[in-house]
Amino acid sequence: MTQPTPITVAYGDGIGPEIMEASLRVLQAAGAQLDIETILLGEKAYNAGHPAGISPDAWASLRRTRVLYKAPITTPQGGGFKSLNVTLRKSMGMYANVRPCVSYAPFIDTKHPLMDVVVIRENEEDLYAGIEHRQTTEVYQCLKLISRPGSERIIRYGFEYARRNHRRKVTCFTKDNIMKMTDGLFHKIFEEIAQEYPDIQSEHMIIDIGTARLASHPDQFDVLILPNLYGDILSDVTAQLTGSVGLGGSANIGEHLAMFEAIHGSAPDIAGKGIANPSGLLLAGVMMLVHIGQSEVAEKVHNAWLRTLEDGIHTADIYKADFSQLRADTATFADAVIERLGQEPQKLRPVHYAKADSQDLANIISVPKTVPAKKELVGVDVFLDWNEEGRDPNVLGQYLETHCNGDGLKLKMITNRGQKVYPDGMPETFCTDHWRCRFVSVDGETIQHHQIIRLLERTAAAGLDFIKTENLFNFDGERGYSLGQGE
Ligand code: NAD
Repeated sequence: MTQPTPITVAYGDGIGPEIMEASLRVLQAAGAQLDIETILLGEKAYNAGHPAGISPDAWASLRRTRVLYKAPITTPQGGGFKSLNVTLRKSMGMYANVRPCVSYAPFIDTKHPLMDVVVIRENEEDLYAGIEHRQTTEVYQCLKLISRPGSERIIRYGFEYARRNHRRKVTCFTKDNIMKMTDGLFHKIFEEIAQEYPDIQSEHMIIDIGTARLASHPDQFDVLILPNLYGDILSDVTAQLTGSVGLGGSANIGEHLAMFEAIHGSAPDIAGKGIANPSGLLLAGVMMLVHIGQSEVAEKVHNAWLRTLEDGIHTADIYKADFSQLRADTATFADAVIERLGQEPQKLRPVHYAKADSQDLANIISVPKTVPAKKELVGVDVFLDWNEEGRDPNVLGQYLETHCNGDGLKLKMITNRGQKVYPDGMPETFCTDHWRCRFVSVDGETIQHHQIIRLLERTAAAGLDFIKTENLFNFDGERGYSLGQGE
């Protein structure tokens, strides 16, 4: 007899309690050994004055069990509230989001009956760092941060996931033809790590054509590894392609906590009616069982669920009069799955999970150590808010050369929204009030911090409004900054 595994359960809001009750009933009937602690998340926690939707004592349970089985919650409208999922992901370092997207044709209508894709999304970095600034009247900025350890960890997780789940291919999507440094790093690390997994086919696609290909031929894809924003969008697209977002479960995985939940929300429109489909949360529960090493139970639940679907026992959201046998409510659906425990589907492909093979992968993938690079300061970009003289770049360029050049620094170029406008700009280029002015050393040598400070003093004395600077570094002799378009 397996020792019960401690897990934390949150019943959530809306349909949450109904589908959690049904899902836990199925898992336990199948023989899952769970030692359950319940915590309060969501609406009640928000209303009790906890702005992130989680009460302070819940953290102790999460730290103790390191596994959260979470029903959907209702996010309150209006300001002042923080997203609970973002808080949980970031504070507990859940860096990987795993979302299997499978078609169940002919039982669920889909244009892509052969689809079986797992989307693995980086969860902590990218534009989701939440570092945004308004810099001028016209221009706003959001920083896209991609780190080597962050990328290495998610990419290794993806390959390891593929190997353990007997997947044949891993595809990475980026836009590194444009974002050569950030997306370029992610792609480069993908190629590096792919070398360590010669048993798994690997490919990289530019995200735009890759998405088009995924939408038309999802059966050509297997495991996708994506940076955060692309992963967020693509995981919804992929789930929708299966025919129903409502059937999907997802896992958020990190070293300190793993969280399992349905893709859908709390469905307040049908809450309390007892008609919600518990499948998304149930499949998340299956992923949780695999994670905690109860794979045999996971397999039993998953196959019974497939058989239930096949037998035409369908909740209202997937019911089709000409096809379904029974319009089941939540509890009846759970009962039907329980009745089929031990059976396998006849038409759909049965699932097989390796016996007792815990997929607590996050703990075998350590945070990679990085070797500090030799860093040389070779220039600085000074960003200005400037809205004078008809925004003529030549006026600004000559003014900067007259008032700011000196002390070993000279203006190299000015760009506006990344396009070079001085020297030798095109008169047709539209200019905003946001100017990036690149200064480099006169002699091509490295520069010192104090030269930048004096440059800013000269800029301020010249009556120019600088809004930020970005230092230009070379790392181990390699350029660590992008060139302006046309530079
Ligand atoms: P939703 O997913 O709750 O509902 C969209 C539609 O799908 C509704 O018509 C609903 O009735 C239906 N639906 C969803 N799940 C279903 C199920 N299991 N069975 C049958 N029908 C189902 O999305 P929404 O209406 O945009 O959001 C409602 C609330 O959920 C919001 O407060 C939102 O912030 C929250 N939400 C929470 C999570 C989460 O906790 N992870 C995720 C998404 C949305």
